[in-house]
Amino acid sequence: MKPKLVRSLAALRRETARWRKDGLSYAVVPTMGAIHSGHTQLVTEGLKRADRVITTIFVNPRQFAANEDLAKYPRDEDGDVLKLGKAGSHLVYIPEPEEIYPAGFCTTVSLAGPAKAGLEDKFRPQFFDGVTTVVAKLFIQTGADYAMFGEKDYQQLKVVTQMARDLDIPIEVVGIPTVREEDGLAKSSRNVYLSKQERQQALAIHSSISHAAERIRGGLDTQSAAQLATRTLMALGFQVDYVTVRNAETLAPPQHRDEPLRVIAAAWLGKTRLIDNVAV
Ligand code: AMP
Repeated sequence: MKPKLVRSLAALRRETARWRKDGLSYAVVPTMGAIHSGHTQLVTEGLKRADRVITTIFVNPRQFAANEDLAKYPRDEDGDVLKLGKAGSHLVYIPEPEEIYPAGFCTTVSLAGPAKAGLEDKFRPQFFDGVTTVVAKLFIQTGADYAMFGEKDYQQLKVVTQMARDLDIPIEVVGIPTVREEDGLAKSSRNVYLSKQERQQALAIHSSISHAAERIRGGLDTQSAAQLATRTLMALGFQVDYVTVRNAETLAPPQHRDEPLRVIAAAWLGKTRLIDNVAV
């Protein structure tokens, strides 16, 4: 199926108004493009819940710091639209930048709570204000019933869920398990930056946090398990931003043994920053 491609908010709203008139529900899948099977899985899951799926592609300048990879972020619009069509997305919204940030735009949506858990926010201080501002706009522009997000970006999933709740945006945020390569590496648009050798080393991020989760299940304390994983990654040449164990819902440091836990990590391999997380 060839999806309908729209670039203006007016055209998007014409399509969604028609769906509403026909009594159809719809889900939105926000992405930055460079579509891979992690993204198309979100489309597949959206189709299970709603009659129609909109995928958005917008490389959001506000969530990149000056020294980050905005200019070289991989872009392949034609390929993306093809893949999204194959996955069953009915509409692809690729807004012109002025549809998101028109001249004079001066609002920032900014959260505390999970957005200040000391994980991504500590290493990318501009990141969540950029994410929540653009995601709030995409929720409001699309008016979707469901929003599909990957667990791969675990803190982001918690942050956008909290934002929709706090702002009474009538959308259900749905988290989808991480899609992985055969060796366990989480699919990511940024994996194309890895050299052949780095690509082989990269699997260690998933294996080390999986071992940490196993050790915690086996009775090891959370701090020692995180330290072991950090040491393993450093020994393999990673520069580790953090490996930490948090409450899976609040992202706060664990208080007692029976709360739901998540091992969450971010580390650099050469010039590529990888993030991953697993349930305990
Ligand atoms: P991105 O284009 O990287 O900003 O990601 C767009 C959406 O796809 C976010 O909700 C991500 O969490 C999700 N996503 C990215 N990679 C994966 C993956 N490997 N598995 C599941 N979801 C993913």
